[in-house]
Amino acid sequence: MPHPVSPFRDEARDVATGHPIAILPGIWEIRESLAPAFDTPETWVSLFLLTDPTGHASPVMIDTGVPRSTHTVILPALEALGFAPSDLKVAVNTHSHHDHAGSNVQLREATGCQIWIGRLDGPALLRGDRFGPDEIPPHSADRLLDGGEIVNLAGRDYEIIDMPGHSPGSIGIFDRERGILFTGDAIQARGTTTQGVPGASNRPAYRNTLARVRALPVEHLLPAHAYLPFPPAHVTPASEVHRYVDVSREAIDTIDDRLASAIRTAGGSATIAVIADAICADQPRTPVLAAPILTDYLNQMAAVGRVRHDADHWILL
Ligand SMILES: [Zn+2]
Repeated sequence: MPHPVSPFRDEARDVATGHPIAILPGIWEIRESLAPAFDTPETWVSLFLLTDPTGHASPVMIDTGVPRSTHTVILPALEALGFAPSDLKVAVNTHSHHDHAGSNVQLREATGCQIWIGRLDGPALLRGDRFGPDEIPPHSADRLLDGGEIVNLAGRDYEIIDMPGHSPGSIGIFDRERGILFTGDAIQARGTTTQGVPGASNRPAYRNTLARVRALPVEHLLPAHAYLPFPPAHVTPASEVHRYVDVSREAIDTIDDRLASAIRTAGGSATIAVIADAICADQPRTPVLAAPILTDYLNQMAAVGRVRHDADHWILL
């Protein structure tokens, strides 16, 4: 049966084509477009398909994309590599957000696979979600991961790494022998072009996660988006991974001062739109997610008396 063609297909960048891109032996990147919620053509989520080069073990998906992704990219990618839908036994979610767990229900229905996720992100699946036109029905995972487990995925042992901060149940999936770490959105350098800033609702947890990654022997970091200023999907070698972690740490440590300075430059009081424009001035366009993420940081600054909120303005104290 032919698969539906995504209206957001971008052949030049392999986005939404269902064409698996070889990253490392047994690791394939599958790019799904994040349009129309984000209208920037360079914006996509990288899903990963793990396969066993010896052909013995079943393939495994890391993340399931947005609701349409089962049919626009995942089933076509499995087929391109010679697998039937029923060969997929497990999909692991790096976290619960709509572009990572968005096609869980469709994928489980189409393949019979189990859905695994970090325990603290399990409740978000049970609640369901809506993001732009994407509706994610409430559903449950088949297995909740605590971090610390060793799981066999596509014939290799992976360690589950607890990586909270971006979401409470964010996990990393780590092949210690090869130094390969899948991180989802758990660590974000300077954020994506849709954000312009890193999104970490719990900063103490995020800093601990950065320290944890810095201490791991990682040669290949595989994040789910192109986080500025790094190339998409594959950060290597170890020295670049260290730089990625250091850039992430600096971005999260300087955001309060950058926000304060943006408000000061605007005369001591500014709307979130003015603040977001100032913070993201070096971005090609105003990132759609900057305002809600920055509002979250401003609320944390308000809690320690550095700013206050009055009507639609933020005032520097
Ligand atoms: Zn994401």
